[in-house]
Amino acid sequence: MSQFSYQDGVLHAEGVSLSAIADQFGTPTYVYSKAALLANFAAYADACAGRDALVCYAMKANSNLAILDLLARQGAGFDIVSGGELQRVLAAGGDPRKVIFSGVGKSADEMRLALSHDILCFNVESIPELHRLNEVAGAMGKTARVSLRVNPNVDPKTHPYIATGLKASKFGVAFDDALATYRTAATLPHLEVAGIDCHIGSQLLDDAPLLEALDRLIELIDKLGDEGIVLHHVDIGGGIGIDYREAGEAAPVPVGDYLGRLFAKIDAWRAARHDGRPIKVIFEPGRSIVGDTGVLLTRVEFLKHGEEKNFCVVDAAMNDMARPALYQAWMDMQPVARGNAEALTYDVVGPICESGDWLARDRELAVAPGDLLVMHTAGAYGMTMASNYNTRGRAAEIIVDGTVSHEVRKREQPADLFALESLIK
Ligand SMILES: *Cc1c(COP(=O)(O)O)cnc(C)c1O
Repeated sequence: MSQFSYQDGVLHAEGVSLSAIADQFGTPTYVYSKAALLANFAAYADACAGRDALVCYAMKANSNLAILDLLARQGAGFDIVSGGELQRVLAAGGDPRKVIFSGVGKSADEMRLALSHDILCFNVESIPELHRLNEVAGAMGKTARVSLRVNPNVDPKTHPYIATGLKASKFGVAFDDALATYRTAATLPHLEVAGIDCHIGSQLLDDAPLLEALDRLIELIDKLGDEGIVLHHVDIGGGIGIDYREAGEAAPVPVGDYLGRLFAKIDAWRAARHDGRPIKVIFEPGRSIVGDTGVLLTRVEFLKHGEEKNFCVVDAAMNDMARPALYQAWMDMQPVARGNAEALTYDVVGPICESGDWLARDRELAVAPGDLLVMHTAGAYGMTMASNYNTRGRAAEIIVDGTVSHEVRKREQPADLFALESLIK
């Protein structure tokens, strides 16, 4: 059930009207629904109930401390991709022992920070990274738990920028090199081989590629087991898509259905192995936890009728929401209140000095200057990708809980943006 609905002709987040939020906090502003966030996490948690499984929220999708705190309180772990993200987990009161550290370029400093907090696992992506981690852990007198991110070479059939498990991808260890890489890892004294992982891409509407990737991981786990390298967990990554409401686009697979099929496969495999040993299953969902929990609220500045196109110039821009400029992403736009302006076909654009600064193209909208619009399904890869291009302060963030709005991040002011700068003497 969507937590964003029209009540008396005005779009609400749960019980709060978005026009009231714009009046109180200004625009552009990200508005999230707490109920939607908890429901999305519960879809994973419920499907994992009674099993040895851990949901590590991929926080690069949305790393606001209040969101991390809400998820941590539901038992979530976190998938991080930088030392900065670990600092956010700690600041939000998350448990570092439920953290897994992904990414192709971890620095020695980041490794030290993560080891000092005893994180659950490093998802290692190359042999040089194994050596660096072994050295850093050795110097600290610690042992690092590792998993290898294997590239299962499965086509996720998604946008090329968010397909990550193909042979030509910068991510992971090639499938054919995985056994040799595990043998190397097993010889390094300050590493403990703990698991295997993959992450094949994002915004997957169908779970078939994920189940195929699991088959390939199972093949490797069995081969490693035969050599005496026993893995304790399998981490299938994130990637389940969400409904951006684009006409003609297929609906994403429900999370419960996907996890049901995945656990059925795991159970059949473990039963066939006859060793009775369970294996922990880890998930790294990002988009499917936060994507549909948020909207970007923006106000129309001007309507501009060009020779070939009509432009709706709004106060949000590509620095607030980069997905359209970066991936040609289609995101749904709706007016907050239904007025009586004439409906026309517009390109919705921001004030930034770039032709790539657009939020939506060829949309029929009935809007007038001063009206409020929302961009739907903006909770994932929205605020976390925001920049200060054109010295624009980043948007405020609000979490609505029933009839209460919490400002969980204030709007940045221009002075914040140059506070770290200085003149040369
Ligand atoms: C981005 C990322 C995720 C999350 O992907 P979603 O498509 O948002 O679920 C999970 N794991 C890794 C390693 C990632 O880089």
